[in-house]
Amino acid sequence: MSEITVIGAGVSGLSSALNLQLAGFDVRILTRDLPQFTASSAAGAVWSGGSVSGRARRWADDSLSHFLTLAKRADSGVGLRRMRQLFPQKAGDPWFKDRLPFFAKMPPEELPAAGQDGWIMDLPIVAPPRYLQNLQEQFLEAGGKLEVREVESLDALEAESRLLVNCTGAWAKYVTPDPEVFPIRGQTLLVDAPQIRSGYMSASDDTYLFPRDDGLLLGGIYQFDSWHPAVDAEQSRDILERCSSIEPTVSDAAIIRRAVGIRPGREAVRLEVEKRSRERAVIHNYGHGSIGFTLSWGCALEALDLATQLINATNADG
Ligand SMILES: Cc1cc2nc3c(=O)[nH]c(=O)nc-3n(C[C@H](O)[C@H](O)[C@H](O)COP(=O)(O)OP(=O)(O)OC[C@H]3O[C@@H](n4cnc5c(N)ncnc54)[C@H](O)[C@@H]3O)c2cc1C
Repeated sequence: MSEITVIGAGVSGLSSALNLQLAGFDVRILTRDLPQFTASSAAGAVWSGGSVSGRARRWADDSLSHFLTLAKRADSGVGLRRMRQLFPQKAGDPWFKDRLPFFAKMPPEELPAAGQDGWIMDLPIVAPPRYLQNLQEQFLEAGGKLEVREVESLDALEAESRLLVNCTGAWAKYVTPDPEVFPIRGQTLLVDAPQIRSGYMSASDDTYLFPRDDGLLLGGIYQFDSWHPAVDAEQSRDILERCSSIEPTVSDAAIIRRAVGIRPGREAVRLEVEKRSRERAVIHNYGHGSIGFTLSWGCALEALDLATQLINATNADG
């Protein structure tokens, strides 16, 4: 019997499993989908901490430290890129401006319209396919087990592990079950455009261009309450049109990959312990919405703290 079973192999599950394993726990992952077929694999994925507060600020800050370290290593799947972020109204300075290697306000003459605001900054951008593969390899090479298996409910697993870590993303709606979770469908295009070295994101029309190690990632789509798994050709055209209005040369770029991912929407992330009996418990780590990479490493560190406290308390009880 594994001491801890992590359910899910997206960025939340892999980060949690690896941190638990590094701390010495015997961990296995159960997942319906391999990492390359998760919502995480379809993501942007820029570190984007502008909207977080409370506990989430600590998770974002811990993740930022992790990604800034990885950005210095070749093949980590994380790069540091110059980004412009536009706002439809005045924006103050973000809490993380001194944490970044470069931050400046956009000069007024570079803003598209009066009354707008913008930041220019160097941000970590993750290429999820490579990053997730790295996490998976580290976990397996250190002796972790990964089993492809669909879990119907947490109850069904209780006899198999003393501690479960629930990282089922949007599917926590059914697995937990948690009616507060809702799907937010996204779609992206990865194109070959090495001429574009700096990225862009806009708070007003959800358009973004992220120069990654594996290509230029174009988005985005935020389709609430949709689970539709297939690529929508009309949405791909819309993304390309919006991104071409920012960087005209992308209209001719070769398309490397089209992807769909279902973000786990929830009013707030659920990261907490649910005691199910004296000896059994679940740590929930899901509901990260559109910033699951931004929060991933910090959430995994907190999941590790919760697991350590739980297991120490159970051992002390006898
Ligand atoms: C298009 C797009 C762009 C994004 N851009 C960014 C960005 O720029 N920055 C950022 O920080 N975030 C971004 N996000 C958000 C981020 O990707 C998500 O918040 C994050 O991937 C959620 O990860 P997760 O591991 O919790 O869930 P998922 O990646 O969905 O993984 C869930 C796991 O649970 C498993 N599972 C589910 N149900 C079961 C079951 N019944 N039995 C067994 N296993 C099960 C699945 O197989 C999967 O392995 C983006 C998302 C999308 C879709």
